[in-house]
Amino acid sequence: MASLYIHIPYCEKKCIYCDFYSIENMNSMEHFLAALEKEIRMYAERFSQSDAIDTIFFGGGTPSLLPPSTMGRILTALHSNYQIRSDAEITVETNPGTVDIEKLRGYRSLGVNRLSIGIQSFHPHELAFLSRIHTSEEAVQCVEDAYRAGFENISVDLIFSLPNQTLERWNENLRRAIALQPKHISAYSLIVEEYTPLFMMVQNKTVSPLPENLDAEIYESTIGMMAEHGYQQYEISNYAKPGYECHHNKNYWNHSNYLSFGPSAHSFWKEGPTKGSRWWNVRSIAQYCESIGKAEFPVAGSEVVDKEKMFSEAIFLGLRTGELNVAMLQQLYGVDMLTTHGEKLKSFSDDDLLRIKDRHITLTRKGFLVCDAIAESLL
Ligand code: SF4
Repeated sequence: MASLYIHIPYCEKKCIYCDFYSIENMNSMEHFLAALEKEIRMYAERFSQSDAIDTIFFGGGTPSLLPPSTMGRILTALHSNYQIRSDAEITVETNPGTVDIEKLRGYRSLGVNRLSIGIQSFHPHELAFLSRIHTSEEAVQCVEDAYRAGFENISVDLIFSLPNQTLERWNENLRRAIALQPKHISAYSLIVEEYTPLFMMVQNKTVSPLPENLDAEIYESTIGMMAEHGYQQYEISNYAKPGYECHHNKNYWNHSNYLSFGPSAHSFWKEGPTKGSRWWNVRSIAQYCESIGKAEFPVAGSEVVDKEKMFSEAIFLGLRTGELNVAMLQQLYGVDMLTTHGEKLKSFSDDDLLRIKDRHITLTRKGFLVCDAIAESLL
């Protein structure tokens, strides 16, 4: 199993909280696309004979700015250079306000079979605060158009714990998302990333983050409401109807191989069962195109992921998915956590943060609230 990720580094307008690499000026698009096709070919010379590809993800940036003809051009490059399974999950991150039904029909006809729609909120003033380009009406229209265009595997992204948000207002957001009957919902707590406009607003005290206790209350309420409506929590921020988990993200969390193309994109490839490499591209379209023009990989940095780091990541990522398979960890890394971490695990279990059964550790709902703290303590 392996995945491909394509980073489309353009947005109509930057959102105040976002630290993903993207620019608003699309004049370099043609130059970028030519470089992207070449990067896809360059990596294929090294990796095309390896694992079959079972997921492709177009992220960004705003990939839904691309017309179907351009999306088709990229997919053709991928299909010509990699062994892509006929049933591969192919996702496009889609922003309301950038698509209409014709464009979505075009994507569908290319084999795109999953949309991840960035709604974030249904409240006009919250959308304005986040500097999103769409209205709540456009968000609803986008989901309806997606159904009519033939998509059934639809995910909706929402953000909670916005400044001044109340539990009631968030619950209304969630209720409106559930009413659209997507197969998958991602609900993220707003993170104040360094060097973003939001970060400056917090520094200047023009905006105050929501108190931690309210953030926790909103998160707990989200878990409850999702369960009530038949969505299974399969990661700290992700909920799906049975069978509709995002395979692409699961591949990331399972340490599967993935190659990523485009500026700022990160890749990971295992060289053996417990050792791998991670590398990431430059965060600049100009530098990216320049390197590729010289037939050089546009890599900004890399690291060896050794056995110890793989083990730490397996604990951290595993806990975020709510479950650790103790037998598998022992097989891969030679560590029996029930022995090495027995005391700590018992105390977490006594505090009703996790359960241990049949060499599986599972987080309770209370445990999900402090998942990262549990991982840190174990590591
Ligand atoms: S649309 Fe997405 S990628 Fe673009 S700035 Fe907003 S959050 Fe970031």
